[in-house]
Amino acid sequence: MPKKQSTAAQRARQRQAASGENYTTALRARSGPPFRHKMFSARGAGWAPIIERAERDLALVWPGHPAPHWEEKFGDLCWKGAPWSQGPDVWAVVGRALREAATTCQTCPSPGRKRVVWIWDTGEFRGWVMPWVKTCCDACGHVPHHLRSDESYLDLVEEYEEDA
Ligand SMILES: [Zn+2]
Repeated sequence: MPKKQSTAAQRARQRQAASGENYTTALRARSGPPFRHKMFSARGAGWAPIIERAERDLALVWPGHPAPHWEEKFGDLCWKGAPWSQGPDVWAVVGRALREAATTCQTCPSPGRKRVVWIWDTGEFRGWVMPWVKTCCDACGHVPHHLRSDESYLDLVEEYEEDA
């Protein structure tokens, strides 16, 4: 390993030891992730067609509807701040999109299910910062090997992965 990197790792360990964050060293990764999952983001090649169709159908049942703010929450697609006063036609469109998203990988158009992934931070920390629930296929649900026994990760797996 180049000397520069090991020195940075030593400094990180010292900082973490001093602040009492005893497990964050393990979160630091040597290399970046194959897939970058973003908290709350509903973007991705798998969900994009679902969202596009929902918006096309929405225009038919509710002309002039406000632009939906799509968000991901614990692996579910949702319309943040959706107006609750709308009729059943509107909710049928939204409900169908939500049901489709629940079984479609957000990142690619493969079938998906709820998987606990790790969020990769590109900022100052630069590493795996926390586990997060996403609807994924097996390939996009990559979990770094050294984080598979992390306690907060396992808690979420128990809660959200049906066939864990
Ligand atoms: Zn996928």
